[in-house]
Amino acid sequence: MTTGSQPSPQIDTSKAHPARVYDWLLGGKDNYPVDEAVGAQLPPEARDAARQNREFMHRAAAWLAGQGIDQFLDIGTGIPTAPNLHQIVQRVVPTAKVVYADNDPIVLRHAEALLVSSPEGATDYIQADVRQPDAIVEHARHILDFDRPIALSLIALMHFITDAQGAHDIVRGLVNTLPKGSYLVLSHAASDRFEELVEQVTAEYAKGGIELGFRTRPQVERFFDGLDLVPPGLVTAPEWGPPGRLPEPEDSGIYAGVARVV
Ligand code: SAH
Repeated sequence: MTTGSQPSPQIDTSKAHPARVYDWLLGGKDNYPVDEAVGAQLPPEARDAARQNREFMHRAAAWLAGQGIDQFLDIGTGIPTAPNLHQIVQRVVPTAKVVYADNDPIVLRHAEALLVSSPEGATDYIQADVRQPDAIVEHARHILDFDRPIALSLIALMHFITDAQGAHDIVRGLVNTLPKGSYLVLSHAASDRFEELVEQVTAEYAKGGIELGFRTRPQVERFFDGLDLVPPGLVTAPEWGPPGRLPEPEDSGIYAGVARVV
């Protein structure tokens, strides 16, 4: 586990944090009154979105492991919530290696739960910001073999990164470090679904000091430029699943996709 050269960052309970609001939305206990204050003001669709997003992660991770992918780089991991990604993939491939990264000190505080690997595999955690992708990749190279396929997961992360911060270029730069046969797994809050709620949700997060930037379907699709989206393509989170799976008949404000590096 790496925290860089700085001392362990402090948990700031005076303002809301994305990881903790998400934990509240999922019914978790690792959040503070400031986070609940944001979560409780959100419409019920936000709790649905959090659950649907997490369930997409479960299905996508299991599918990738079933494809033989045994290396994972998960950025914007969130507070550990069982099953975590490594638990899902190591059930299928016990030797799988997983590197987690998040910039929130609360995730670092709970990171031990991410580090309980299968004996045959490995997990690691780095406290890092996706806006410094080189540091993440440099660290991940100690654990993962960048000459073999890696699944890069950015799940419910990129709506916290603005266009001005170079969201699409960051993803492109990360994908460019991966060899052919790798995958990008990405989900994102939609601005063109539940359109009547977008303004309210954005405003509630903003009151808590969190900049949340919903994107349209074409804007989300751009994250996958140059990659091969695997069926069913870029869809809503409950619709994403391996061939033959009947999608849950549920509306959703989350887009989700998995694409192959070609
Ligand atoms: N991927 C998990 C958690 C999503 S919540 C899941 O889908 O279940 C979004 C996570 O992104 C939070 O844990 C938050 O701390 C993290 N995050 C937000 N901005 C980040 C940044 N700039 N760098 C790294 N992580 C970030």
